[in-house]
Amino acid sequence: MPGKKSAPATPDPSDRTWPERLRYFAAEQDALVRTIREFVEIESPSDNKPAADRMGRFLAERFEAFGGRPRVHPADQFGNNLQIDFPGREKVKPVLLLGHFDTVYPLGTLANMPCREADGCLHGPGVLDMKSGIALMLFAIEALHCWHSGLPRPVTVFLVSDEEVGSSSSRRITEELARESAAVLVLEPAAGPRGAVKTARKGVGDYTLKVQGVAAHAGLDPGKGHSATLELARQIIAVSKFNDLRRGVSVNAGVIRGGTRTNVVAAEASAEIDVRIKHAKQAAALDGKFRSLKPFDKRCQLSIEGGINRMPMERTAGVAALYQKAQAIAKQIDWKLEEAAVGGGSDGNFTAGIGIPTLDGMGGVGAGAHAVHEYIVISELPGRALLLAGMIESI
Ligand SMILES: [Zn+2]
Repeated sequence: MPGKKSAPATPDPSDRTWPERLRYFAAEQDALVRTIREFVEIESPSDNKPAADRMGRFLAERFEAFGGRPRVHPADQFGNNLQIDFPGREKVKPVLLLGHFDTVYPLGTLANMPCREADGCLHGPGVLDMKSGIALMLFAIEALHCWHSGLPRPVTVFLVSDEEVGSSSSRRITEELARESAAVLVLEPAAGPRGAVKTARKGVGDYTLKVQGVAAHAGLDPGKGHSATLELARQIIAVSKFNDLRRGVSVNAGVIRGGTRTNVVAAEASAEIDVRIKHAKQAAALDGKFRSLKPFDKRCQLSIEGGINRMPMERTAGVAALYQKAQAIAKQIDWKLEEAAVGGGSDGNFTAGIGIPTLDGMGGVGAGAHAVHEYIVISELPGRALLLAGMIESI
């Protein structure tokens, strides 16, 4: 990776010391919380384009104020995706800061789940996943401007509108931008209460299994029917045998539907199945198993749709090197930064999947993502901002 310093994680003597930098961010903490609150109070569910676009416009203005050039990538079904380019002094590849501004919460959620501060935590829909991550980007960029009078290197910020629903409108752009970048830092929430960064994520996919049976009157002609619900039940047991938890493969038929009335032998049934894999090479074998499912009742027909949507983010040498840089920066402020491998996917799976060094979980520390108690721990913010700023400098 290109870099201007031979020992990248060591502070440049002309710069402020790391404890001074931490004090800088500690002094910014209240402003950071105010900004996060502003972001949370603009609701932006993935499935509401006008609302998501409002959020996107607001973010574009905030980043523009620090010298970024916004570029809007129009999307028909979701909010427009937002790219902001920051020029840098050194002519090196940019670092890509990746995030999403959509949330899983429908419009109106704030009425029952207001953004509020209590016991050192900030609560609210999307506060952890991942509006605090976006605010961290903004404050890290501001700090670098202040310390270096301009960014030391180019930075590309890419904020997508559809991460929570599979990133169909943004994936191609995410991958293109990653290819042009030295490395990718993903501002998704940190793992666990100790704020570990994420160096591995499982691959994620989903399948829909449909069964077409033969309907009949359950009382008059029970023998003439071929039950789709019975067939589906047997298929679910067959599919559950694809689980191989020891190797990191898991399969879950989380949603099933079927039948119309108790006195009708069901003609139709279906299951929606979530799958997770640890290694890219497991994808083809698992897919093959789904595609070769055969009906137990020969009069029933099966159809299978879907596949792996996000390949695993594997802990490659490039990922490990980024983690080591992050650890070295954290050490400067006596913070023992941990790493974690997690089951959930993010857009980091896409960038790591095409071989670009990616470090995920750089965002806020907290709990309750996608749940009513979602929160971040406010006192963790200065350290996270420092880590991000340091990484942008040293990659
Ligand atoms: Zn997220």
